[in-house]
Amino acid sequence: MENRTDDDTTPTAESALTQRVSGAEESWFDPRLEVRASSIQGQGVFATAVIQVGEQLVVEGGGGVVYSTQDWATGTVRLDPEKYNEDQIDDDLYRATLIDMSYLFNHSCAPNMWGGVAQRVVHPGEEVTTDYALSIFAPAYCLAPCRCGAPGCRQRVTGNDWQRPDLQARYSGHFPPFVQRQIQRLG
Ligand SMILES: [Zn+2]
Repeated sequence: MENRTDDDTTPTAESALTQRVSGAEESWFDPRLEVRASSIQGQGVFATAVIQVGEQLVVEGGGGVVYSTQDWATGTVRLDPEKYNEDQIDDDLYRATLIDMSYLFNHSCAPNMWGGVAQRVVHPGEEVTTDYALSIFAPAYCLAPCRCGAPGCRQRVTGNDWQRPDLQARYSGHFPPFVQRQIQRLG
């Protein structure tokens, strides 16, 4: 947090925002999910029981702080990156939510969950994964080498992967609206 010291006792934008966020609806996670160390990266989310195709595993809460690039640049919104996760939700709109389990789903090039729903049977002890192509749209983003270990691994996962026709076909209807609009424009 810039411009902030430990002895700063005046109310800050962050404390006001924390109140707003903590009063918001939290996300729901299936109780058969738990956090463990992952061979893909850091911590991951794992199944503790068999999960069938089509079962809802995550329901995203509706809360969070929504802001534009200008809000950020002018300091209207200041957030501690250790506490908040940022998702782009529209052309110039971002949503920050308190970091929870949804932040810990690792990327796989052959994920078993998207849209919060299991897309194939997940066995106990198996990591539940998603595809960052559905959530990361920063053009400069690059994850390389990808360690997902899936057959057909892309090796390099980038913030432009949503432009790939194969991924557009696989995840049709699951991209955020501002990405869906871009896909229609490009198509
Ligand atoms: Zn991969």
